[in-house]
Amino acid sequence: MFGAAKRRAIRDGDGIGARGRVRGALMGRGVAISIGVIAVVTAGLYLIARPASEPSLRRNVVLIVLDTVRADRLGSLGSTRGLTPALDAFAKEAAVFERAYSHAPWTLPSIASLFSGRDPLSHGAGGRLGTFQRMPDGVETIAERFRAARFRTGAIVNALFVTETFGMTQGFEHVDAVVPRANESARRADATTDAALNWIDHHRDEPFFLFVHYFDAHLLYDPPPEFRTRFADPQDRRPGPILFGRLEDMLDFRGGKVRLDEPIVRRLEKLYDGEVAYLDSQVGRLFDGLAQRGLSSYTVVAVTSDHGEEFFDHGGFEHGHTLYEELLHVPLMIRAPGRTASGTSLTPRRVSAVVRLMDVAPTLCELAGVPAPKEIQGDSLLPLMTGRDDLNRPVYAFGNLWGESGEALRKEDWKVIREAKASRVRLFDLRHDPREQRDLSGTEAARRDRMVAELDLIRRASEAARQASTQPSLTREQREHLQSLGYLKSEDEDRHD
Ligand SMILES: [Zn+2]
Repeated sequence: MFGAAKRRAIRDGDGIGARGRVRGALMGRGVAISIGVIAVVTAGLYLIARPASEPSLRRNVVLIVLDTVRADRLGSLGSTRGLTPALDAFAKEAAVFERAYSHAPWTLPSIASLFSGRDPLSHGAGGRLGTFQRMPDGVETIAERFRAARFRTGAIVNALFVTETFGMTQGFEHVDAVVPRANESARRADATTDAALNWIDHHRDEPFFLFVHYFDAHLLYDPPPEFRTRFADPQDRRPGPILFGRLEDMLDFRGGKVRLDEPIVRRLEKLYDGEVAYLDSQVGRLFDGLAQRGLSSYTVVAVTSDHGEEFFDHGGFEHGHTLYEELLHVPLMIRAPGRTASGTSLTPRRVSAVVRLMDVAPTLCELAGVPAPKEIQGDSLLPLMTGRDDLNRPVYAFGNLWGESGEALRKEDWKVIREAKASRVRLFDLRHDPREQRDLSGTEAARRDRMVAELDLIRRASEAARQASTQPSLTREQREHLQSLGYLKSEDEDRHD
């Protein structure tokens, strides 16, 4: 399908040799793609996970997702807003990845990448508003690997997209999910931390893998009084009617029935900051709880987010609708105590290389001495955590929940975004234009075309690797629930889409 000249050009342009082998069966979907071509493509653009080169010490793992937290809200990543003292103290003891990227701007495909070590096209979980795809049972997850290795596995989750309905609890023997019908009733961070510590107290005598999902930074923004007083706009410092952000508000906004003006978005942003600060205080309580139980010295703790949030950075609000930095750049910090089995010290450090959420699963597996999931695309970050590697990794991002669908490729300091419907392509130089305000697709046409070709190749490789995805088998009640949340349209609405 692709000529030798193109293959060579891509390899030369990338400067990365084959670093691994393609694992497992690659399933073509009516397209004859040879294993050889896929191997070249994938080796050139994705750093294939290698088997762990050294046996690692057995450690517990706590994986924390701060849903909807932008990277630029953390003091350790440059924020001067003073929102995150607990996370900033943690950062001093961790590997801090300054440029970590999600593969999607919304929860389901992003956390599926975190769990599976695969990009959204490869694992198949995601879809769009009204046509969701659950994670196929055939996709192996990090929790399944830990459970197979006789770790106790638990999940504390606060959103429907991280539940059994979407195939996301594979491998977890205990799932504590609180998924209310209205977002003003979501479980708060204090209760989430209590649930996590309670689970730990019941399983601390055995090796464990615990996933903790905090939902506080997600709409709606209603920080507790202390944080409202400190961070909200003066007119919002007293609790009152919700400014904006109930599910019905967002349905109207997404449907174009409501417009938000700049002053309202700035007030919402300050309330969001209050939620991030409150969340930080409760994540800090989880860190303290691990220390008080004497677990910190043999527990790996990873903190990240599934996507960010937009406050008119590109004229929009919330998330799920673009592939710009404010939605894809996420925090990632990993605190791994001690040394690797070969004696390399896991000291705190800053890592500036571009990395991806799909790299987290193989990293946590390697740190805990557990085999990584099969068919994985991500590559362990341990070489970056020990200073043995500083290579940037290409990031493929795919799929919007609402708005124009699209995909993006970030490579080194360049990023190309292609919108599906209009085949419109934008190109950004992130080194000189980190806020993506100047589209260079017209003046840098050769680079644009090269990156679009690479994006197409990754798409083909990931599609070929994807196992058959299935629609979630929903009960009538679940379907009605999804419709009430605005996540599933009625058939009438579908016809007009
Ligand atoms: Zn999310």
